[in-house]
Amino acid sequence: MTNLTSPKQTSELLRSHGIRLQKRLGQNFLCDRNILNRIVSAAHLTPQTRVLEVGAGAGALTIALAEAASTVTSVEIDTLLEPLLREVTADYSNIQFVFQDFMRLDLDALFDTAFGTETGVFVANIPYYITTPIIEKLVAYKHRWSRAVLLVQQEVAQRLVAAPGSEHCGSFSLFAQYHTKVEIVCTVPPTVFLPPPDVTSTVIALEPILPGAIAVCNEKRFFYLIRAAFGQRRKTLLNALLRAPASFDLGFGMDSRREAEALLAKAGIDGNRRGETLSLEEYGRLADAYEE
Ligand code: SAM
Repeated sequence: MTNLTSPKQTSELLRSHGIRLQKRLGQNFLCDRNILNRIVSAAHLTPQTRVLEVGAGAGALTIALAEAASTVTSVEIDTLLEPLLREVTADYSNIQFVFQDFMRLDLDALFDTAFGTETGVFVANIPYYITTPIIEKLVAYKHRWSRAVLLVQQEVAQRLVAAPGSEHCGSFSLFAQYHTKVEIVCTVPPTVFLPPPDVTSTVIALEPILPGAIAVCNEKRFFYLIRAAFGQRRKTLLNALLRAPASFDLGFGMDSRREAEALLAKAGIDGNRRGETLSLEEYGRLADAYEE
């Protein structure tokens, strides 16, 4: 029986199946018992929990999850891994694989398969090339899961937890913090992966916030305002709003500067500030003032 936390044994297993790891699919496999335990523990699993995993790889995390949960549904794009995964998980009747591209799946159907009508836990050692789209999809389906534990690049984790005014804070930070509660679990060095990636990673845990972290009248406009403000980082908030792309539909009319100044005054926000210094609440006030 292969010990999947041993890089040497995992390499031999891959070789025996004629598999060469593909960088373009983000195939850096986690071979470390301690980090696997940290991920499983951060997932808060019980014997009743159903888990949806993205990216089974050689199955190390899939098996660790299956040992603590009720069922694991694992999506893996690389069909070359199928015989290997069937072999290493042969003793686990509670694991099912979906050999498809997660980005192209019908997610309503996938969540139905993985969780039935309940909410479950989402876990992924995320392929780095699709980190942002996966998080965006998770947010779009936040009513379908109760917790998500993700292994992401450290730089992404820093952006997700960044406070207003910090150098890492961007529109994606506010997007994530509006929709979820984000928590850093631990830092993961490149050495625990086969092969080691170029960057340090971080395990994060997310909990959905329904409907959102603050009350806003028009969520779409709220995010347009945020994106407009961050679209022109070196400009003042007032100038950034005035230069918002037409597609954001923030048109301030003929007398646009005066209208934008009036909006900022109504929301009690100084237009000379930079967009990245505003909190979620302040953007909420601005968006609600716009609706009025
Ligand atoms: N879970 C394993 C582990 O922790 O060792 C593997 C993690 S590895 C970073 C990412 C895995 O995601 C790879 O096995 C890769 O083939 C798979 N993958 C990449 N893109 C995918 C996609 N679009 N849909 C599903 N799986 C994908």
